[in-house]
Amino acid sequence: MNKIQVQENLAEQKLVDELCEIIHNVVTSSSYEVEHENTLDYDCMTDDIDQHETEDSENEDPTFRTNREGYFNEQKDFLQNFTLDYMIKVINFYDEIDDRTNKRKHTWKGKIYEQHGAKRNKFNEIEAHVFDMFENARENYLPAHDLDLRRWALQKAKEISLGDFSASAHWVLMFKRRHNIVSRKVTKLVTRKTANDSEEIVKLVDKFIDDIRGELNNYRPEQVLNTDQVGLSKELHSRRTLTYKGEKTTVGVIQSHNAITHSYTIQPMISLAGHVVGPIYLCLQEPSGRFGERVKENLFRANNVIVTCSKSGKLDTTLVQCWFDHVFLPSTPRKSLLISDSWTGHKDPNIYAKSKGCKRVEIPKNTTDQIQPLDVFYNRQMKSIIRKMYDRVMLDQLSISLMERNNIIQLISLVHSQMSAPIFQNLIRYAWYASGYLDKHPGSFQTVKDVCFSLDGTTCQHNNCDSSPFIQCSWCRKILCFDDFFLSYHIH
Ligand SMILES: [Zn+2]
Ligand SMILES: [Zn+2]
Repeated sequence: MNKIQVQENLAEQKLVDELCEIIHNVVTSSSYEVEHENTLDYDCMTDDIDQHETEDSENEDPTFRTNREGYFNEQKDFLQNFTLDYMIKVINFYDEIDDRTNKRKHTWKGKIYEQHGAKRNKFNEIEAHVFDMFENARENYLPAHDLDLRRWALQKAKEISLGDFSASAHWVLMFKRRHNIVSRKVTKLVTRKTANDSEEIVKLVDKFIDDIRGELNNYRPEQVLNTDQVGLSKELHSRRTLTYKGEKTTVGVIQSHNAITHSYTIQPMISLAGHVVGPIYLCLQEPSGRFGERVKENLFRANNVIVTCSKSGKLDTTLVQCWFDHVFLPSTPRKSLLISDSWTGHKDPNIYAKSKGCKRVEIPKNTTDQIQPLDVFYNRQMKSIIRKMYDRVMLDQLSISLMERNNIIQLISLVHSQMSAPIFQNLIRYAWYASGYLDKHPGSFQTVKDVCFSLDGTTCQHNNCDSSPFIQCSWCRKILCFDDFFLSYHIH
């Protein structure tokens, strides 16, 4: 067998494995959820295309088109017939000097072409760059949107000093047409494995909620708490690797990543009053299970993150004890009702023995996706910020490794800070309402997407920065670029 055959066989085997896994997940799961997402993709006329977005773009005001861009767009089709080498040859030919007369052998309107030629090549550079970036996004199954195309174009324009290029809506539209790119709706099937319809589970859920509701009369909302660990992969290449709990699998993105072994764990806590409580607990994965002295000294210091580590990046009973002593006790009222799931690390009653005022109740097995507030609504919201960060690093091929421990600490610190803003109070209260603990809907609220990522394409508002926006801060409402948010550590 030659090398190519081997590679083909491996690829086939991979595909077969993926399909088997998907079929297995579908067969063994108890419920499904269909998610939709829009992304740009090539028009291959098979799947359903989201016409709506495409039409929107076409309805753009034609005055967006600046004269200069219009000119070069028209010129482009014609000029694309010639290679750069050919054009240089033509220029050299006309530039040739006659030795006798010391004048050009051939007449030409050199200056104009020189200027326009340089500019035109810059446009080609932008075009090629945006196309490369788009290809990278597709290869990595990252969702891409018009805003991303625009950002890449502007970044390149800045880099090659093409200051008057604005990457207008028209330019974006024409770019998409030139490369046969349309907006596509991606439908994903999320399977759930918890047996949430069985009679037994329904009974367990009802009883637990009834019991807790009875208890709630003895506590103020800020004394009722929920904590849970969330496992994250260091390489969030695709949606499939987001959770390692094995409860949910996204089908539709066929890509194999065994990055699950490289993971870290975060443990947030929320209160019935709608607050994020205390610092977030972060457990990194260290091969030896501990930080060396040098590493310890150089750890990124964030006030809202308590960092620990283990060999697996997961927590165990000892680490939960450490969480209770160093995170829970210093940040909660003396009297509290702590709701957490039946995961073994939480179970040991000795953990909670130090505090007489803390009563811990255990959510029954297989019911957390229905009655654990963090699971029901909060964690997914929090993870959407983390995912945005990973997506942006991958989309823009930034030279930041989100696998490095200090970058992980910084990232988790910023995400926790964003989630702690008062603007999310009703969102958190909704998580309790949606899990059955509150009778009254807390009222309208904005999601993370509404608050942080509904950017209208303006530029960064930090000092005189003119970079493309990444996030709108949930605290100060400033629109920030990736550098001013992440690298400059925009903490509140
Ligand atoms: Zn801010
Ligand atoms: Zn900026």
